[in-house]
Amino acid sequence: IAESYTRTLLVTIGASVVLLFVLLWLWQVRKHSRQLKENERIIWQQAHYDYLTQLPNRRLFQDRINQLLINHERRSTRFALLLIDLDGFKEVNDTMGHDQGDALLKMVTHRLSECLRKSDSLSRLGGDEFTVIVKNLSKSQTAEAVAQKMLEVMAQPFYLQNSPVYISASIGITLFPDDYPDTYDSASLMKNADQAMYEAKKLGKNQFHYYTDNMHHEALYRMELLADLRSAIDDHEFQLYYQPIINLKNDRIEKLEALVRWHSDKRGVVPPNEFITLLEETRLINTLGDQLFDEALAFSKSINQNRERPIEISLNVSPLQLKFKTVETWPKKLKAEHARVTLEVTESMLMEYNISDSLVSLRNMGFKVSLDDFGVGYSSLAYLRQFPFDYLKIDRSFVNHMTETSDELHLCKAIIDMAHQLKLSVIAEGVETQEQMDLLKSLNCDYAQGYLISRPLPTAEITALIQNKQSIPEFELQNPV
Ligand code: C2E
Ligand code: CA
Ligand code: CA
Repeated sequence: IAESYTRTLLVTIGASVVLLFVLLWLWQVRKHSRQLKENERIIWQQAHYDYLTQLPNRRLFQDRINQLLINHERRSTRFALLLIDLDGFKEVNDTMGHDQGDALLKMVTHRLSECLRKSDSLSRLGGDEFTVIVKNLSKSQTAEAVAQKMLEVMAQPFYLQNSPVYISASIGITLFPDDYPDTYDSASLMKNADQAMYEAKKLGKNQFHYYTDNMHHEALYRMELLADLRSAIDDHEFQLYYQPIINLKNDRIEKLEALVRWHSDKRGVVPPNEFITLLEETRLINTLGDQLFDEALAFSKSINQNRERPIEISLNVSPLQLKFKTVETWPKKLKAEHARVTLEVTESMLMEYNISDSLVSLRNMGFKVSLDDFGVGYSSLAYLRQFPFDYLKIDRSFVNHMTETSDELHLCKAIIDMAHQLKLSVIAEGVETQEQMDLLKSLNCDYAQGYLISRPLPTAEITALIQNKQSIPEFELQNPV
């Protein structure tokens, strides 16, 4: 028994020792493979990132571009490639030494990164050359906005050894797929961005240039327009015109839509479609919007003096005015003037920006709300139900094309019936012919607006029109304004 016990013990000890060795060996293998992985990561990091700035290097940048181009074949993508070359870097390097040059490159990296969104990517190709890929280009995210911002941050002095150093940047921009109607590869993108960057250098540095001339001219035009708009706002060069809206039951003018005009010394009278988007992109719409609201209130006061039934003013508002809450001061002013103001908003704005709450609270504080341009966007019934609108405006493209035999007639009828079921009043805009006016009456539409009644007019003329013709028995085309 003792012998068999000893044997079992020996076997157990032997097995345990073997197991211990196996475990030790496995642990070593794992440690080794971890080490290998770590080494692999370090090698990958060194191969793809720039040691000085920790930015992606030329190789990783090229991988990313290639990836975008491959993705484009499956799902179309649009992006801008910016090539940034510093002006005056060589001088700093030569006069202050390479350490200072390196320090400057790190500061440049930091400033450039601050101009970007998360989805944009900055790389360093080497020397003083950087690239940026700006993805998801949209109306509000333009390549030139990024380029402009970069030029601005570069123009600020850098401090090396406590003294200010001035450099600037030249930027070349190519847009994909816009600049590539036929074939493309990463090399052609780089070549074009490079060519555009050289153009920027040639034209005097410290600027950006597009690969194609057309885009460059467009960008220059927008920059000039923006500069003019800024000073126009300061100088109060904007003025509201008013277009009558009549009640179709009695042909009386009951409302006026305020439409902005820019009286520019340089450009003449500029219509809103040429500048509202740019004002929105630059947030200047908030400043102008406040000016226009005050102007509309003052006009409402003057026109409604001694009037039994006050005339309502409709003002177009941009979603940004609601989003940035500049409208918060409005209800108090509205109350103080006892004015009646309707805010016109479009459906696409409601969808794009989450502003229903602020519209609801404006409505609770005395404003009416009108859904503008109905029929062209999503025209979602859900929105109509969800939000307490007072008016629905049928877009002028439907009214304009309406004849006795047109599809538009059925569309207008459907919209009017639906709106009435939801207890909304309907305003048809863009009424240009007597036939359209008669058809709208037969469809039981509530209000009409359009050139047939009157064009938008400046305050003196609209005041005269209202005082002389409180009701308009015969519609006559007014002289174009
Ligand atoms: P909207 O709100 O749809 O304004 C109606 C536009 O239709 C006005 O153009 C008006 O002049 C035009 N219109 C009126 N009757 C007729 C007609 O019978 N036939 C035709 N073909 N057109 C007619 P306008 O004044 O050029 O304004 C264009 C757009 O600019 C407006 O479209 C509105 O979205 C925007 N807008 C105008 N004023 C302002 C403003 O003060 N603030 C903001 N955020 N946007 C404004
Ligand atoms: Ca409108
Ligand atoms: Ca409209």
